[in-house]
Amino acid sequence: MSRFWSPLVHRLTPYVPGEQPRLTNLIKLNTNESPYGPSPRAIAAMQAATDETLRLYPDPASLALREAVARREGVTADHVFVGNGSDEVLAHAFQAFFNHGEPVLFADVTYSFYPVYCGLYGLPFETIPLDDGLRVRIGDFNRPNSGIVLANPNAPTGIALGLGDIEKLLAAHPDRVVLIDEAYVDFGAESAVSLVSRYPNLLVVQTFSKSRGLAGLRVGFAVGDPALIEGLVRVKDSFNSYPLDRLAQAGALAAYEDEEWLAECVNRVMTTRTALSGSLAELGFEVLPSSANFVYARHQDREAAMLAAALRERAIIVRHLKGPRTSSWLRITVGTDAQCAALVKALQDILHRND
Ligand code: PMP
Repeated sequence: MSRFWSPLVHRLTPYVPGEQPRLTNLIKLNTNESPYGPSPRAIAAMQAATDETLRLYPDPASLALREAVARREGVTADHVFVGNGSDEVLAHAFQAFFNHGEPVLFADVTYSFYPVYCGLYGLPFETIPLDDGLRVRIGDFNRPNSGIVLANPNAPTGIALGLGDIEKLLAAHPDRVVLIDEAYVDFGAESAVSLVSRYPNLLVVQTFSKSRGLAGLRVGFAVGDPALIEGLVRVKDSFNSYPLDRLAQAGALAAYEDEEWLAECVNRVMTTRTALSGSLAELGFEVLPSSANFVYARHQDREAAMLAAALRERAIIVRHLKGPRTSSWLRITVGTDAQCAALVKALQDILHRND
């Protein structure tokens, strides 16, 4: 460790991302990407944007994309913020809204980037345990706080809350920003965007990385009251964080407008999810009810670490998160039918080999 680092940097515990293997012959079910890729219209739009206009800087405000999101959500563009992946949007939100001196509240367990942002910005936080079924208990988010962050559906569990619960939280903390991270919302949960006009303290964050198959493009957005969006813009412009580049703006806009492609990919994932959950249950796994593009499962008598390692030997990678509340579980991305069939077959072999 360097003596030149500031004390804050010494204290940072950075996020450990899921593996992005160099080998291409793996069945990759570890980081919740889409198995179907982006809309062909998005690819065509990026190809069309690949010309001499790349010498020009991009629109710093990403206005065309923000207007498209606003139109679909029935708001105006000043309710929409875009960033390089929802991770960047979240980072700006933590910095913009959560520094009132009290802890930020989020669930234990949830997306493991939230404590990392708190570390980066020197924000205290408090985690609220899930119940025995790994569900969020809204009533437990009742402490003094600087803000509340909920992933809905939650990650890594995949369990979604209804809007009634989200409204309870918004009403109970009118002076604090409640951030709902909807990275996985398209796979069967209800979006809180419909509540934005009634709750000025609500910020909803979504991504193009999952249901729209564009994790490689790095595009995410937030919808909220214009006062919140202005706060995010202030942080972004003070940080000189980059606007979306020209290709990302063109590709994301075309992807956003192709609702048919979105619906088809989402339906396929949801159908495969049902089949995969059933097959895992038959193999002796407890599988949580998922509203996301992954399932969270644990075997009744085999260790998750052993299963993950044995799958890896068979060229299949799934996510095994260490930690007291997660180490007995596997988070498995819903791939194509063929990928999931290969996973189930490999698990059958592993479980029988160890009988
Ligand atoms: N929120 C949650 C809950 C996630 O799981 C992820 C993906 N790891 C993200 C946000 C970030 O996604 P991205 O930066 O690709 O938009």
